[in-house]
Amino acid sequence: MNLIEHFINGKITKGSSKNKSKVFNPATGDQSAEVNLASKADVDQAVQKAKQAFTSWSIKPPMQRARIMFKFKELIEKNSDELIKLIVSEHGKIYEDAKGSLARGLEVVEFACGIPHLLKGEFAENVGTDVDSWSIRQPLGVCAGITPFNFPAMVPMWMFPMAIACGNTFILKPSEKDPSCSIKLAQLFKEAGLPDGVFNVVNGNKEAVDALLTNKDVVAISFVGSTPVAKYIYENAAKNEKRVQALGGAKNHCIIMPDCDLDQAVNGLMGAAYGSAGERCMAQSVAVAVGKIGDQLVKKIVKKVEALKIGPGMDKNSEMGPLVTKEHLEKVRGYIDLGVKEGAKLVVDGRNIKLQGYEKGFYIGGCLFDNVDKKMKIYKEEIFGPVLSVVRVKDFNSAVNLVNDHEFGNGTSIYTRDGDVGRTFASKIKVGMVGINIPIPVPVAYHSFGGWKRSLFGDQHMHGPEGVRFYTKLKTITSKWPKGMASDPEFVMPTLN
Ligand code: NAD
Repeated sequence: MNLIEHFINGKITKGSSKNKSKVFNPATGDQSAEVNLASKADVDQAVQKAKQAFTSWSIKPPMQRARIMFKFKELIEKNSDELIKLIVSEHGKIYEDAKGSLARGLEVVEFACGIPHLLKGEFAENVGTDVDSWSIRQPLGVCAGITPFNFPAMVPMWMFPMAIACGNTFILKPSEKDPSCSIKLAQLFKEAGLPDGVFNVVNGNKEAVDALLTNKDVVAISFVGSTPVAKYIYENAAKNEKRVQALGGAKNHCIIMPDCDLDQAVNGLMGAAYGSAGERCMAQSVAVAVGKIGDQLVKKIVKKVEALKIGPGMDKNSEMGPLVTKEHLEKVRGYIDLGVKEGAKLVVDGRNIKLQGYEKGFYIGGCLFDNVDKKMKIYKEEIFGPVLSVVRVKDFNSAVNLVNDHEFGNGTSIYTRDGDVGRTFASKIKVGMVGINIPIPVPVAYHSFGGWKRSLFGDQHMHGPEGVRFYTKLKTITSKWPKGMASDPEFVMPTLN
């Protein structure tokens, strides 16, 4: 059985713990590997190595850090097929989707290549007579990232390229469900010239996470995952005096206005609801039909959901792959059973599909509920599967209120031809990432990614300018050179005139 270990101080490392977790190929349902789960001692060792590496990495000129980042970018491009296949084999998503997610992660590396410019501070001459003042941003120390299963390359790449380019060292604790991609990225970063100890990967579960949360040498934690764990991370990181950004779950609404181009909206919705089998934090899992558009909308979607091509991620004909694990498949099936009990109308039922030759794989077909009500659990909770709920409302204001009253606020979209409606929506909606005739409004790397409400605990979004702010601290210096006679002591608050 293939064993996946840790990557500490530039080397594959076994670790001291005997605990292991199983890794599966979701397409076949077979176990493909075991992953070592780090003990507290393993995590502490990685943190010590990262702390030692910080001394020299943090003072390396940003341009030299950027050159390593450029080389890393080249190596990711050269090894992209292998990285994509690792994503497909452990996560299950289709090859082209995995390729897209790697490209979105690579964007952040490209952005981080500009770090000398991004770290430039501000300078003000003569804030008082012969007094100058300037500000600089300096790295924090050892930072850690804890990431979810659904984007094994992209989400870690939202974090570590930015942290490392800013002069920090980093410990990544990827999801134990699909850890191989992170190890490969660490090996490529080393090949690019990154000094040992700057980027480390420790595999593990809650024990490893708790070790990171309580280690006093870890100064900042970035987390992406479900809301209950995000809240736990936020509270415990803060309690241990760490900087923290903790991104949680989502329930994203796509508003379909009666004036929209319906075919465009339906095609957008299909990709956003069923792409990656709905295992995306930016998946559109609620379609809000405004006014009389509901019947037409449902009719058009039904046909497309029934025609979805479901199969292994490596099959070029597949449009949707399996879910990540058997447990997750059962959880999603459970939500569909619940929706039926709650009284929603299950218009397309994908629960019982069987794929010849892949009978043990974790597949489920696309599911569509109509007449979903805001009191239902299938509306309130994140299902994280290929399940779209249609909620019907009378007008635009009711649609806005529905979105604003939901506990999550990650992403949302509106389909309309009316510019004023689009603009009002963007202004009034209490959500972090908004699309207007764009189904999945994931910001590019030079903007920042993050939700509102219980989709993000903390103050800063990820990557882009917010990433630079999160991974650096601000210092402001005020200086005056001695000139002639020493000045007399002053006992009042200086006003620098
Ligand atoms: P998860 O919360 O189960 O796990 C995320 C990470 O936390 C993993 O590394 C896991 O090992 C660790 N973890 C799990 N339970 C823990 C515990 N009790 N204590 C400490 N650490 C723990 O999430 P997941 O199932 O891997 O990922 C899916 C979730 O992630 C969904 O809710 C999805 O919306 C969310 N997500 C959010 C975003 C975003 O940007 N907001 C992006 C991607 C995924």
